[in-house]
Amino acid sequence: MRDFAGELEERKAAGLYRVRRQISGPQQPALVSDGAPLLSFCSNDYLGLASHPELTRVAAEAMSENGLGGAASHLICGHHDAHHQLEERLARFTQRSSALFFSTGYMANMGVISALAGRGDTIFSDRLNHASIIDGCILSRARVRRYPHGDTDALETMLKSTGGHKLVVTDGVFSMDGDVAPLRQLASLCKRHDALLVVDDAHGIGVLGPEGRGSLAEFGLTEEDVPVLVGTLGKAVGTSGAFVSGPGVLMDYLVQKARTYIYTTAMPPAIAAATCASLDLIEREQARRDHLQSLIRHFRQQASAMGYQLMASDTPIQPIMLGDNWTALALSGALEERGLLVTAIRPPTVPDGEARLRVTLSAAHTWDDLNQLLAGLDESRSLLAPAAEQAV
Ligand SMILES: *Cc1c(COP(=O)(O)O)cnc(C)c1O
Repeated sequence: MRDFAGELEERKAAGLYRVRRQISGPQQPALVSDGAPLLSFCSNDYLGLASHPELTRVAAEAMSENGLGGAASHLICGHHDAHHQLEERLARFTQRSSALFFSTGYMANMGVISALAGRGDTIFSDRLNHASIIDGCILSRARVRRYPHGDTDALETMLKSTGGHKLVVTDGVFSMDGDVAPLRQLASLCKRHDALLVVDDAHGIGVLGPEGRGSLAEFGLTEEDVPVLVGTLGKAVGTSGAFVSGPGVLMDYLVQKARTYIYTTAMPPAIAAATCASLDLIEREQARRDHLQSLIRHFRQQASAMGYQLMASDTPIQPIMLGDNWTALALSGALEERGLLVTAIRPPTVPDGEARLRVTLSAAHTWDDLNQLLAGLDESRSLLAPAAEQAV
């Protein structure tokens, strides 16, 4: 038998071993983790909606009306009114023709990419795309060409030299860097070279654009420009699941062909009902986004003044670049001793030598929360690698 235990030991020796902490109670900045209170800066609950009382109330009501389980797949007898209403609501929210509700973002990407490209086709994928996109590409059996992160010139060269059906796929907001893809340029490139553009806006929906409609809306891009939009609902939306939206013919095609849509049990209808309520809040409550943006600006000013190396991000994802795994773990540990939870992100989630602390900010954070984080970072500066320290 393969030496599984030995491989785990190797991981430990390389600082790559992962452990799960156990959270009690609702997801919010003030967490209880393995029984101890911690102030968290690592969830993707960007708007603080994951434990919003209005959403739990709607979910509870929907549950007492419709029961709990999804019970069957959508094509058998699992497609509930609540799912249908959510799809119409998502189409309106994204200002696109139609939408399809998936059980997770991982499944949405796997299903969409493998349905829309296949053997003999070519997929062009940003080098920093999310794991679920990478796996969708593999599942599709298409030829995959990865282009350097955000490099539209390199992509254009590749598109020019490739025939046949072409699909370009990118994160809208990159999950580990926090930067936004050059969506306008990508849209016009794809039009020029007859490639189908798929944007995964897992971290943009709810946060960016007017009324939180996402990064496409921020750039004024419509369904004409970007035919396929994937969004997830477990992050800023605060519930669970994912969606794809775009032209009706594509959604119809996905219902026929996306295996991760077809061969899985429908989500509990109550999740769909709560998601509709969340979209109402997102549209209505601009104050959440305004507060979040002020926190982001303040964090960037203060942390970079301390000598921390930040990335070119204006989104709630604010990585502190550290380089080696041990420095990332040491800084994360030092913060935890001060009651602050910021996880170290290591390879293979990020490229080798690019370990970092991924700070995520949320509208649920108070100014006092942020100041506690900044104080912790200030006191932990001595842990920076020598090269970074010189820059202080
Ligand atoms: C989180 C994430 C996903 C997966 O979504 P889930 O609903 O959590 O499965 C997909 N794409 C990106 C860019 C993500 O960050």
